[in-house]
Amino acid sequence: MKSKMILMMGGQGVGKGTHARRLIARDGYGYVETGAILRGLPPESPVAQIMARGELVPDADLFDVIAAELDKSGDVILDGFPRTLGQAQWLVQKYVDKFDIRVIYMDVPEDIMLARIEKRIREGGGRADDADAAIVRRRLDAFWKTTMPAIEWLRNAPGVKFADVDVTNENPDVNFERISAALS
Ligand code: ADP
Repeated sequence: MKSKMILMMGGQGVGKGTHARRLIARDGYGYVETGAILRGLPPESPVAQIMARGELVPDADLFDVIAAELDKSGDVILDGFPRTLGQAQWLVQKYVDKFDIRVIYMDVPEDIMLARIEKRIREGGGRADDADAAIVRRRLDAFWKTTMPAIEWLRNAPGVKFADVDVTNENPDVNFERISAALS
């Protein structure tokens, strides 16, 4: 039987990590949190400098890292990967035979993304790349320009089950129920 792979997709601040962790606590998936893995690199590395500017790391720097995680995984949730069309096509081509791939697209207007990032800062969970408005702007621009084409491609990719989930509710429990329903 194929293992399950869930791709949590959506812009900055939509709650990908929060809901991923909740699904993991309930269902015991493995977790590939791309941003956290990359933040583990030394601050002087070229990748860390790209991240500090709010730009996307080149696809080629990610494939080995993600493959190493997936090759040891059973059921797994990916958070922050794929973010480009090239990453999405690589992932599906390489893993569609091993995993049953499902996409949860967390659709949220940009004003809500910005409000949630501000809340994250206020509550002390903020990161250096959240605190600088210009860097947040650059990450959001990268989402609309570079990640949306990947999401649109995944919507019709053979062998991929795609769900649009409205997670605009102020109550995270309501949003989580919607994600659960989309996966059931
Ligand atoms: P956010 O989703 O809020 O931007 P992440 O922690 O997921 O935060 O990512 C932080 C940074 O890591 C991104 O701004 C980018 O520089 C880099 N990064 C993470 N995932 C990817 C990816 N799939 N492709 C390229 N760069 C990535």
